[in-house]
Amino acid sequence: MAAQVQTPAAQAHAPATGPVSAPHSVGEFYKGYEEDGKLRGYACACGYKTLTYILQCPRCGSKKDVSETTFKGTGEVIAYSLQNVPADEFVNDAPYAYALVRLEEGTVVSGWLPNAKRPEDLKIGDKVHWTKSYKIGMVFEKD
Ligand SMILES: [Zn+2]
Repeated sequence: MAAQVQTPAAQAHAPATGPVSAPHSVGEFYKGYEEDGKLRGYACACGYKTLTYILQCPRCGSKKDVSETTFKGTGEVIAYSLQNVPADEFVNDAPYAYALVRLEEGTVVSGWLPNAKRPEDLKIGDKVHWTKSYKIGMVFEKD
């Protein structure tokens, strides 16, 4: 089982029962998406790990075996597409790569690489790392 990390936000909202506390709001959770340079997430004793906020494990259904954990933020690209027509929030970043990244911990997350603008800028299997950004979504850069 992964080590349980008690973040200040989690301590402030310590539950009466169970290992995971609910944030006040979804916005608060996403504001705390990372902390101290690490990605916050959740892990279950069955091995399931996610960066998505959960109170119950979607794999085994357990509510009592879910705890907070952190992810290194490193992994490899397993799929991607170059976006030349962006959503409004990415209008100043296009083109960019929308990518699925398998983190070292085994969890697959979606994110984007603002510096991958041409097919030769990225390939399947490239090692990437998450980078803190003021922009929305999970921003990755090539190692
Ligand atoms: Zn589980």
